[in-house]
Amino acid sequence: MASPIQQNLEKKNAEYSADFSKGDLPLPPGKHYLVVTCMDARIDPCAAFGIDLGDAHVIRNAGGCVRDALRSVVISQQLLGTREILVVKHTDCGMLTFTNDDIRAKVKENLGAAAAVELATLDYLPFPDVEQAVRDDLSFLKEHTAATRGDTVVSGWVYDVKTGKVKSVA
Ligand SMILES: [Zn+2]
Repeated sequence: MASPIQQNLEKKNAEYSADFSKGDLPLPPGKHYLVVTCMDARIDPCAAFGIDLGDAHVIRNAGGCVRDALRSVVISQQLLGTREILVVKHTDCGMLTFTNDDIRAKVKENLGAAAAVELATLDYLPFPDVEQAVRDDLSFLKEHTAATRGDTVVSGWVYDVKTGKVKSVA
């Protein structure tokens, strides 16, 4: 028996695919850029950032952390021809609400000592200041020259989950 979430996927996808007409898009992003943003459920990157199907790579993770996205960034830049990177973090991010010690304690509480040991060295990359975290990510990209193509245009933004507006911060 499919879960309600699975049923939703099947139902909505049937509607979506019924009049789908963009099956001929090329593999590389048509506008040659990539976006690194947070997995936060309140962000709709395509709608909020003006991304049409086939335009760009959108890499999402907790916090929109470039370090965490590095594998995908290299693939996007080196194999799939992207030339510009937008790093978009956001207000009220969950990453502002905990430290590595906090989440490690939670893992131990929820799952026990063995799980805590298993995950002991994982850096969850939390940050206390969102604008500074954007700047730090841009610095990370500049320092890791192998991650980009050298001439890649990089910029940093903060999306406001209350207003839906983005502002440039770096
Ligand atoms: Zn977030």
